[in-house]
Amino acid sequence: MSDNAQIPYSRQSITEADIKAVNAVLRSDFLTQGPAVPEFENAFTECHAADHAIAVCNATAALHIACLALGVGPGDLVWTVPNSFVASANCARYCGADVDFVDIDPDSRNLSVAALAAKLKQATRLPKVVIPVDFAGLPCDLKEIRALADRYGFKIIEDASHAVGASYQGKPVGCRYADISVFSFHPVKIITTAEGGVCTTQDDTLAEKLRLLRSHGITRDSSLMETPSEGGWYYEQVCLGYNYRMTDMQAALGRSQLSRLAPMQAARAALADRYNMLLADLPIKRPHVPSDRVSAHHLYVVEIDSARTSAKRAAVFDAMRSAGIGVNVHYIPIHLQPDYRRLGFGPGDFPASEAYYDGAVTLPLFPEMTHAQQDRVVETLCSLLVA
Ligand SMILES: *Cc1c(COP(=O)(O)O)cnc(C)c1O
Repeated sequence: MSDNAQIPYSRQSITEADIKAVNAVLRSDFLTQGPAVPEFENAFTECHAADHAIAVCNATAALHIACLALGVGPGDLVWTVPNSFVASANCARYCGADVDFVDIDPDSRNLSVAALAAKLKQATRLPKVVIPVDFAGLPCDLKEIRALADRYGFKIIEDASHAVGASYQGKPVGCRYADISVFSFHPVKIITTAEGGVCTTQDDTLAEKLRLLRSHGITRDSSLMETPSEGGWYYEQVCLGYNYRMTDMQAALGRSQLSRLAPMQAARAALADRYNMLLADLPIKRPHVPSDRVSAHHLYVVEIDSARTSAKRAAVFDAMRSAGIGVNVHYIPIHLQPDYRRLGFGPGDFPASEAYYDGAVTLPLFPEMTHAQQDRVVETLCSLLVA
């Protein structure tokens, strides 16, 4: 790779084995609804210690059916964080529910448990579901959130889109404390199926609902039917579902990717450690990972510390992009999007999310990133911040 070649902020890792796995499906009898999806689901449950995994066409669909399975509908309230991708909030609106936000903790950049507790205490209307997000791959404080859920009677959907392979208090993300956890397999995420997502749950009844909602609300299982079977052709639609299925080609790619999760994670962790070391003296705030959790290191975000440098985020961003470095910003606070401002939200509503956003820059990080590429990112950033 030449010296000034473009460095993307993220990039999928595709091997010959991945290509072979997808090819094998193309030569098989089933492109969808064959054996590859349950095989991928089984592999995913094993690696996340979950009882059930329900694979779907993307994580946005997974969030939608997770809300529906937990009974979210018109008149209900769902809370999430402003510092996430819009899908974390939109899923509630698909169900006709109202959305509100809980601010983040500046250190973890995840949902602030203190802010959640304070908001619950003052609330005249309690949320039916709270959707904390494992931002950048760092597991959120699910044990504390669960304690509040039990006290106030809400359910938890963990948006673990960034956190495939992460762990919290010694156990993989996706198997404890949340009612449903959702993961994304978009190409920029930890593993990819091109488009894809999964719901995990430990609850048999929720798993059954999620499977129905994924495929039109239709069942061929006579134990789930409301009337006796009329013959071998018979199926019943027992609720209103969608076609949110994953194809067998996607699932085969996912299973092949999952078999390399450990080395891909190790590569991300080593690059994140190296960033931590190389960036230690710059006027920026680096990501902090508490000792009781392992981050999936989906994103490496630094915050420019305006008390220690006069460099502005927009100027740094533009200069890095001009130098061929694919920096990014995660996230514009959801409540500041025009479509959310129309619902009554505005600047000043969630100060920690807004302050974080003002300084945030996501640096490139992906398993196949070389040290030479990383050095170029660090040197360029350094030249811009230490004038
Ligand atoms: C990527 C992402 C989603 C949506 O994932 P898709 O698979 O693209 O639908 C949802 N939430 C968060 C936090 C994400 O980063």
